[in-house]
Amino acid sequence: MASTRRPLIAGNWKMNGTLADGVALARAIDAGARTAGWTDRELLVCPPATHVAAVAEALKGGPVHAGGQDCHAKASGAHTGDIAAEMLAAVGARFVIVGHSERRTDHGETDAVVRAKAEAAWRAGLIAVICIGETLAERDAGRTLEVLSRQITGSVPGAATAANSVLAYEPVWAIGTGKTPTVAEVAAAHAHIRKALAAQMAEAAGVRLLYGGSVKASNAAELLAVADVDGALVGGASLNAAEFLAIAKAAQSG
Ligand code: PEP
Repeated sequence: MASTRRPLIAGNWKMNGTLADGVALARAIDAGARTAGWTDRELLVCPPATHVAAVAEALKGGPVHAGGQDCHAKASGAHTGDIAAEMLAAVGARFVIVGHSERRTDHGETDAVVRAKAEAAWRAGLIAVICIGETLAERDAGRTLEVLSRQITGSVPGAATAANSVLAYEPVWAIGTGKTPTVAEVAAAHAHIRKALAAQMAEAAGVRLLYGGSVKASNAAELLAVADVDGALVGGASLNAAEFLAIAKAAQSG
């Protein structure tokens, strides 16, 4: 891993927990990160939208960032139930996940929509965590790398930089299933992503590439040691402070 890419361990809490649960979880992660005193890695938690303000407030001034799980492409307007990137930024978010496979599947988000959301994140001063990844059918058909190329071309805006974007490779079949690709498969996918990014942006070498899909404390060291893996996007295991901190501890810096 290039020393310029500081590992990022990001938690996606999805639609889980009460407000009190979220604030308590954030406080526990903040306390653990302060005790560890890490300066060589970054931590991020992405609570449900209703919890972002309180979680960001609980994390204020500390080592852990708060982020959103999604945003609308527009800054305001008649979009019932949606949230603008500017609204997330105003309550203390620093990042926002866009294009998670659950959004692509449950809400029919296309690559073009994801791309517009990434641009919206930048407009609001947020860092976009852009998710890509193949389905099981695509994997079984031997189309993983082709799908990743298509999603990168479609979802990653040409103006992406190492400062405004992070990519997360999340094989859809590995999310929440306890299954993970082999280390060799993760290495091949990440090398491919880096190469595909280089074809469309100048700063590809500096962009952090996260792996996501059933990361837990017991497999984190192995996955985070893979070349071109610059951190993890963690779902289920991010709901437990000790587990999430153990994953962060496993991150390789420099
Ligand atoms: C995710 O949803 O981004 C994810 C990686 O989930 P899990 O870690 O639970 O597989």
